[in-house]
Amino acid sequence: MFGSLKALPADPILGLLAKYRKDNNPNKIDLGVGVYKNEAGHTAILNCVKKAEQHRLKTEDTKVYIGPTGSELFNDEMAKLIFTAEHKVLNQNRARTVSTPGGTGALRVAAEFIKSCKAGATIWVSNPTWANHTGLFKAAGLTVKTYPYYDYENKSLDFDGMLNALKEVSSDDVVLLHACCHNPSGMDLNKEQWQQVAEVAKNVGFMPLIDMAYQGFGAGLDEDAYGLRLMADTVKEMIVCSSCSKNFGLYRDRIGACTIIGESSTAVDIAKSVLLYVIRVIYSMPPAHGAAIVETILSSDELRNEWYGELKEMRDRINGNRKLIVDKLVENGVTRDFSFIQRQSGMFSFLGITPEQVQQLQDEYSIYMVGSSRMSIAGIANSNVDYLAKSIAKIL
Ligand code: PMP
Repeated sequence: MFGSLKALPADPILGLLAKYRKDNNPNKIDLGVGVYKNEAGHTAILNCVKKAEQHRLKTEDTKVYIGPTGSELFNDEMAKLIFTAEHKVLNQNRARTVSTPGGTGALRVAAEFIKSCKAGATIWVSNPTWANHTGLFKAAGLTVKTYPYYDYENKSLDFDGMLNALKEVSSDDVVLLHACCHNPSGMDLNKEQWQQVAEVAKNVGFMPLIDMAYQGFGAGLDEDAYGLRLMADTVKEMIVCSSCSKNFGLYRDRIGACTIIGESSTAVDIAKSVLLYVIRVIYSMPPAHGAAIVETILSSDELRNEWYGELKEMRDRINGNRKLIVDKLVENGVTRDFSFIQRQSGMFSFLGITPEQVQQLQDEYSIYMVGSSRMSIAGIANSNVDYLAKSIAKIL
């Protein structure tokens, strides 16, 4: 069987990380991998997570199977975090949330669920989008098409292009939208644009699939969910895939959630039974540890408040870094306008340089970013921003 296989290239971002680790230059900077790092370049465990884990260690009394939905407390807390307890879809009992292995698990489950609704369904993703979206949807047998999104030349959103494309999709298609902190462009919709997209979704009748991997990393927990909540208010059916990897720093514990919203409580119960079957035949049931940590934090006033503070610290550092690099480039005599970095949001922005310049930064200055010039903003620090800005100034 294996003899017919052809080797596939390694994941480019992980390959970049391996190269970075081997690099002996003391000034080296990693702007590749999309994880939050503190000023010292470390991805630390949050204090609220440590405390929740201690509590869990003391109180956990069984490792028996948890069931395909995962933890009900986690699911309820996540639904409130995503929508707010007062949201129409919760009051009308039209949402069902299941725990999943990370945001990726949520997306794969959503993709398989969509296939159960309509074999070979078309899903529209932004151009560009998170690299794994396309592979993951194709692997589930969906047809993937793209709608215009980032205008590379003007470093802005091609909103007219996006809206015109969405007006033309079929009513039985799915449209993937990033809730906030668009990966890889950092370019998000503003409130008015969300209103227009929601209106188009309602009129055309396509189903939105909203990927929220960074709630709280952009402008705030509520601000980042604005578009998602509005969309849930507007359409009859929708899916939300969320991740606790970034905002709780639980990357390797693999915890996220998939929420389906149906037209009625009865309809969504039927849909949930299909969702549970999908889960059963892929991984049977999700891991429990991450969910236990998140539910402990969200259901305790003290730990939740501590989490708000720690999340704010991460968000403020990222947004601060955006200003820092823009200012430093100006300070170093760069005349090209990089102010767009400050208008973008979340973990990433495209620097907007050529692949050759990206390679030059790597070869000559030990600065690592992916070939598209996507920078992971959390890799910037007070200690390296001078060197970074000077190096960029030299290769421009
Ligand atoms: N969606 C997007 C847009 C992401 O950037 C990521 C993580 N890089 C995910 C989903 C998946 O997150 P997780 O690590 O929780 O699987």
